[in-house]
Amino acid sequence: MHIIQFVETHAHLDMMKRELKEVIVDARQKGVDKIITIGVDIESCKKNISIAERFDNIYTAIGFHPHDSKKMKEEEILLLEEMVAHPKNVAIGEIGLDFYYNHSAPQVQKKAFRRQIDLANKYNLPIIIHDRDAHEDTIKILAEKARGRRVVLHCFSGDINMAKWCVEEGFYFGIGGVVTFKNAHTLSKVVQEIPLKSILLETDAPFLTPHPYRGKPNEPKYIPIIAEKIAQIKGKSVREIAQITTENAHQVFGLS
Ligand SMILES: [Zn+2]
Repeated sequence: MHIIQFVETHAHLDMMKRELKEVIVDARQKGVDKIITIGVDIESCKKNISIAERFDNIYTAIGFHPHDSKKMKEEEILLLEEMVAHPKNVAIGEIGLDFYYNHSAPQVQKKAFRRQIDLANKYNLPIIIHDRDAHEDTIKILAEKARGRRVVLHCFSGDINMAKWCVEEGFYFGIGGVVTFKNAHTLSKVVQEIPLKSILLETDAPFLTPHPYRGKPNEPKYIPIIAEKIAQIKGKSVREIAQITTENAHQVFGLS
């Protein structure tokens, strides 16, 4: 077993181009011991659940991505509710708002976001948030429905003020490949300011590949590159980053 162990808290294993077994073996060789695979609609949630059933240490989050909010009708909510209780499901996600693409209308996104937070609260599960160009409404809805809950801001893209508010609320920050990009000034500053006990590691694979592999498909095996960058920003060792972020992930998602 690898001495330094990481938890990959956000990958889309159902979207991997390569043989999954190889993806998982390569990740483990880099110390990426546990992976949470994230759903975006009913079909992807079902695929991820079957992946989690096939492999040890793979967990799921189920939910409708803001892009796919328009597909979430009453029937889909019932299907989500059936999957919630699966023994390897550890969260509701990714849910939230994306006003950059607006693949679903803003009102539809907000409704689906609220509805899925209610579902998470009903089953006492953490939520994994996607927020792009929608900080104000995301904060408003979280303040209204998720205070005192376990909340992960996946691929955090807010400014320092938003970060401070999230720290005060006890929310977690999913930090991924973007932190390795040369123009990631705001995110670097955020990472510098927030406590390590608020940070989770994630790749968002197959998207957002870290430097120097940009242009290639992202995979969970790149988690150590993100940990190295965070270590550099915070002036800590990679070992310490791994230890604390792994503890954080275990705490948020109830992994053992
Ligand atoms: Zn994602």
